[in-house]
Amino acid sequence: MSAIDGLPPLRAVIATHGLSAKKQLGQNFLLDLNLTAKIARQAGDLTQADVLEVGPGPGGLTRGLLAEGARRVLAVEKDPRCLPALAEISDAYPGQLEVINADALELDVAAHLTPPIKVVANLPYNVGTELLVRWLTPRQWPPFWQSLTLMFQKEVAERIVAKPGSKAYGRLALLVQWRAEARIVMTLPPEAFIPAPKVHSAVVHITRREAPLYPADERILSRITAAAFNQRRKMLRASLRGVAPDIESHLLAAGIPPTARGEEIELERFCALARSLAG
Ligand code: SAM
Repeated sequence: MSAIDGLPPLRAVIATHGLSAKKQLGQNFLLDLNLTAKIARQAGDLTQADVLEVGPGPGGLTRGLLAEGARRVLAVEKDPRCLPALAEISDAYPGQLEVINADALELDVAAHLTPPIKVVANLPYNVGTELLVRWLTPRQWPPFWQSLTLMFQKEVAERIVAKPGSKAYGRLALLVQWRAEARIVMTLPPEAFIPAPKVHSAVVHITRREAPLYPADERILSRITAAAFNQRRKMLRASLRGVAPDIESHLLAAGIPPTARGEEIELERFCALARSLAG
């Protein structure tokens, strides 16, 4: 459908500009503009925000964001074949859409945006987790963004929101939940995309905390969670042995049984362990 903006339907856009999907760029396109507008709405009110979109492709989500009234959209796309299609959207929304042909992993996006900034993206699966980790580990907190509304493989989305005791719980859950609040707001079947991926997808809405939930040194926390989940079936007194010679006393000081496994331990305890080790 094209009613949200009077531009041609996405199928026609793809045919006109020869945008056959490239697997190496993680291209699975959303063609239903009702669906892309619904994803855009998960980010909340966009009328007072600049939106960063990574990987606009033929522009389905971009059109959803603009139709939902985004103050301004900065769309960063690596594939130059998409630029003519995106230029048509710019023309339909004068002054509201800036397109940069670049690799999002190499661009300093904050320099192109005015706060408040919301990130909304149907990310290429191969760079999605890497971008998420970067956005959560800037040099200074709070980061340039207020919220992230991102499409992931459902399995990755579940790792982001996982709680202790579940198989999906690990480093990603701890990192995200330490600095932000995250919830799954939509799930999508493979058929929602062209071409259909092998797996289901989910949209995660992540809102930053102004300060991390519990005090801890980021590098120490990262080191202990890496060691704790590297061999997740091991007891912590064994998996963390390399972190400090007297690790058992630090575990006890943090209220963690040395025989426990990482997957049972809450974020608050990991932060207490990081503080004990820092002291
Ligand atoms: N947003 C569109 C949609 O929802 O239909 C396309 C989503 S598709 C899953 C991912 C898009 O990211 C593709 O257009 C691809 O070319 C682009 N892309 C892949 N790697 C990128 C990178 N490193 N930087 C910027 N864009 C990238």
